[in-house]
Amino acid sequence: MAKTNYGKILDGKLKDISEKCEKPSLLLHACCAPCSSHTLDFLNDYFDILLYFCNPNISPESEFIYRLDELKRLVAEMDFNIPVEVEEYKPEIFYSLAKGLENLPERSERCRKCIRYRLEMSGQKAKMLGCDYFTTTLTISPHKDSGFINEYGAEVAEKYGVEYLFSDFKKHDGYRHSIELSKKYNLYRQNYCGCIYSKINSEKDRLKNG
Ligand code: SF4
Repeated sequence: MAKTNYGKILDGKLKDISEKCEKPSLLLHACCAPCSSHTLDFLNDYFDILLYFCNPNISPESEFIYRLDELKRLVAEMDFNIPVEVEEYKPEIFYSLAKGLENLPERSERCRKCIRYRLEMSGQKAKMLGCDYFTTTLTISPHKDSGFINEYGAEVAEKYGVEYLFSDFKKHDGYRHSIELSKKYNLYRQNYCGCIYSKINSEKDRLKNG
């Protein structure tokens, strides 16, 4: 079966929006500043954006604070008037959903649960705040399964009655652009996805490769 082209779906949606007079509101779940850089640059002309930092997976807490501070600095330096809504740091939520899946690699069931939780929270928050759309920056990562993210986003949308913005922010050279913007704004680019297990794996890889 042919893979759905979520980048093309997004292009079509943006074209429709650009033909209307009013900008809809979008809750954009953000995992970190580098992934948000291209995504914000790409979407800012089409939406009134609210960034949503909900990442109980990040470990340790100092890393959570650093990634959040970098996101706020990026928004200020890009000169976008975009508020950042922060979900309190509660790592126990992540540890409970990752229980028994600690040794699995990236793109495994642990990651699906981790992403599912953050999408669920984003849909719920978008509903609570009356946003027209919600989505996540996560599809810009070449390490993440965009198909899963979009399929689950659609399920959450149905549950809360808020439209999910399908995406593949890697399209239009999005990932490369995020690296350029990271350089331009001197952003901290972390070398692990976020959780303690990804940190351990990244450390092991570093030692193995010298
Ligand atoms: S590797 Fe990333 S997506 Fe997977 S569980 Fe850890 S933080 Fe979540």
